[in-house]
Amino acid sequence: MSDPLHAPLSGTPSAAPAQAAPAPSVPDGLADFIAGLPKAELHVHHVGSASPRIVSELAARHPEAGVPSDPEALAGYFTFTDFAHFIQVYLSVVGLVRDAEDVRLLTYEVARDMARQSVRYAELTVTPYSSVARGIPDGAFLEAIEDARTAAERELGVVLRWIFDIPGEAGLAAAEETTRLATTMAPDGLVGFGLGGPEIGVPRPQFKPYFDRALATGLHSVPHAGETTGPETIWDALTSLRAERIGHGTSAARDPRLLEHLAERGIPLEVCPTSNVATRAIDTLAEHPVGEMVKAGVTITVNSDDPPMFGTDLNTEYGIVAGLLGLDAAGVAELARAAVRASFLDTAAKSRLTEEIDAHLTAWQRRTP
Ligand SMILES: [Zn+2]
Repeated sequence: MSDPLHAPLSGTPSAAPAQAAPAPSVPDGLADFIAGLPKAELHVHHVGSASPRIVSELAARHPEAGVPSDPEALAGYFTFTDFAHFIQVYLSVVGLVRDAEDVRLLTYEVARDMARQSVRYAELTVTPYSSVARGIPDGAFLEAIEDARTAAERELGVVLRWIFDIPGEAGLAAAEETTRLATTMAPDGLVGFGLGGPEIGVPRPQFKPYFDRALATGLHSVPHAGETTGPETIWDALTSLRAERIGHGTSAARDPRLLEHLAERGIPLEVCPTSNVATRAIDTLAEHPVGEMVKAGVTITVNSDDPPMFGTDLNTEYGIVAGLLGLDAAGVAELARAAVRASFLDTAAKSRLTEEIDAHLTAWQRRTP
């Protein structure tokens, strides 16, 4: 999800996102394996990745915003009492990103949090429209993310690439602006073109002309679809937007023909279990259809979406999926390899990261008979 403000909620959520459902238990020792496992993340949002630590730094830059900058006070601030409170916190974070230096700081610090989780590569979904519409000049915004990207690669060993997404709720003006930036001002790190925001009342086919223009420049198509709507939205994303991966695709499990199609075409689903519970796309983690997807032969990748906002991180999501699928270390390593294969890295970089994953597994298996 790119903008929780517009998350289509069914009914009134009573549980806070972070405590929405107990995670299936992670098998003994597997958490350590996952923590050190080199990983690629393909579905994670820029502002949605602002951890309390990052918010504290931004809040200190803008004391007039009234967001606590003291880490202890912030920990309380990030304990969501309900979904409305979560939205309030999200918007206050959006409101703290006011100039190009905020953008640079946020981006670099997100990469630092990724490095701590052994993430080596991430395709970060950025919504430039939100920042540009709030008054940050487009050139300065793009320079700030690129500056952070090159510094993160050099200093943290985290390779970042961008997916620019259209915030669906902001309409066709936002689609036009996002397409303009992606096609006429494309920064070096841009690899994909996406679509986020609410699905209900925002038909995917209306964005076809914008995707056509972006894909004509060589960008990959990675829209969100089937998070809160049925499989027909996923079909729309495939036929109208020529999706190469699907963000979430949770409802694909309700359409066997669609699962077969995704498996045959090798179109991966970017699975984000905790997010799906937080936005009430599913009721509990135990009900997540990832098992049905895998059984049908569909490639799945594990992702965190808006991790601090949902009280999770990528390692936790790997543990959850390992629990749901009953995986051992070799199975988890295969999940990590699948994300590398589904990424838009070049062949040589894919091989290098896969070798790192293999080496981690081999070392683990030697230590753990
Ligand atoms: Zn998302």
